[in-house]
Amino acid sequence: MQKYSAASIFKHALKGNREWPRAWRDVGPRKAYDVLVIGGGGHGLATAYYLAKNHGITDVAILEKGWIGMGNVGRNTTIVRSDYLLEPNGQFYEFSLKLWESLSQELNFNLMVSQRGTIYLAHSEDQLNDFARLGNAMRVRGVDAELWSHKDVRKAVPLLDCSNDARFPIYGALVQPRAGVVRHDAVAWGYARAADALGVDIVQNCEVTAIKTTKGREIRVETSRGPVVGKKVAIAVAGHTSHLAAMVGMKLPIESHLLQAMVTESVKPMLDQVVMAAGTHVYVSQTNKGEILMGGDLDFYPSYSAKGNLPRIEDVAALTIALFPAFSHLRLLRSWAGIVDMTMDGSPIIDFTPAKGVFLNGGWCYGGFKAIPASGWAFAEMIATDTRPTLIEAFNLERFRNGETLSEFGTGPMPQWQ
Ligand code: FAD
Repeated sequence: MQKYSAASIFKHALKGNREWPRAWRDVGPRKAYDVLVIGGGGHGLATAYYLAKNHGITDVAILEKGWIGMGNVGRNTTIVRSDYLLEPNGQFYEFSLKLWESLSQELNFNLMVSQRGTIYLAHSEDQLNDFARLGNAMRVRGVDAELWSHKDVRKAVPLLDCSNDARFPIYGALVQPRAGVVRHDAVAWGYARAADALGVDIVQNCEVTAIKTTKGREIRVETSRGPVVGKKVAIAVAGHTSHLAAMVGMKLPIESHLLQAMVTESVKPMLDQVVMAAGTHVYVSQTNKGEILMGGDLDFYPSYSAKGNLPRIEDVAALTIALFPAFSHLRLLRSWAGIVDMTMDGSPIIDFTPAKGVFLNGGWCYGGFKAIPASGWAFAEMIATDTRPTLIEAFNLERFRNGETLSEFGTGPMPQWQ
């Protein structure tokens, strides 16, 4: 991997930055690979990287329909945290958070990991009690968690409406100090560059249209750039998981929905943490550029359009202003949407498929960005060893058949989903 000195950066600047080497090679697909990873989002890129780095499997191609970063990996609101109640989720997301903490150094790419803390507001005594239970579960597991009083919240976030007649009265909060945000497109570029440096082919503008398994060891994948053969195939296509799974005859317990986010114009630094409001499901942070970033609930109808609607934007803006009255002066700059694949229990699916050699990773709901390092790590191990790592044992499909679902408020589904 290339290293840059201050002098070389200065030299490139003088030449109008025209001579920087490509971050990854621009390649077409070869005829055959050991592993084909379908989907060049965060999960696909991380899987390919860890296949090469942890298991020495470098004959790998990532087949991406569009370009690196065009999917949800570049559309999310960048929150990383591990405040989960259930043991399988808690262990998994904490492992991920630990990987985030050293990922910039590992990839030699500044991911702008900012552990500014998440503040999960409680708007009733009951919610605060639930948070005390969640915080205790986290601490037993060795994860950082603090229960804050109304006074603590008021002191830490002075712009919040903490008055007695606030629309959403604030009783306290659950705080995870090590949680925070990570620059999302840098994650895609960092993993892409590092995977490429280990020999992985990143093939863009290459849509997979069919997966054909044969009795032999090889799997033939039809793409918009011709057929490609793989000994193993890994599906990691986020909002399009149902489509790809259908290519190997699977019908999944997944619905695809729109999730929107929006930013205001840039303002001076005024919000140091990520603030999430239990019950309203609105969450707010300030980007490095100074925009106030807001997100909320799903647009509650299944769709692949990736075009949001005005009622949800109005709803999120109104809830944000109720929490932060001072933000009513800000102008909304832009909004966007992504397609999220919602499982019925809010937890992901990482499993084998009925087609030998084809592996499935999806169902990340609202929360798959923070999962990227752990998901890539464990999925790569599963593909390399043909066994299910303990870390992701509970994310199997069998749970929907035998009723052992991993249902957890806050991991994705709102009460109407449960
Ligand atoms: P993607 O980047 O979508 O990657 C999938 C890729 O597969 C895409 O590039 C797509 O083009 C490709 N593909 C699809 N079909 C094919 C095909 N047939 N052939 C080849 N390629 C194909 N999560 C958090 O943890 N924290 C957050 O704060 C957060 N906020 C969010 C806010 C919004 C508005 C949205 C939409 C999501 C948010 N998420 C968040 C969820 C998170 O972004 C996703 O769960 C995660 O990014 C999905 O995994 P991915 O990065 O691999 O997906």
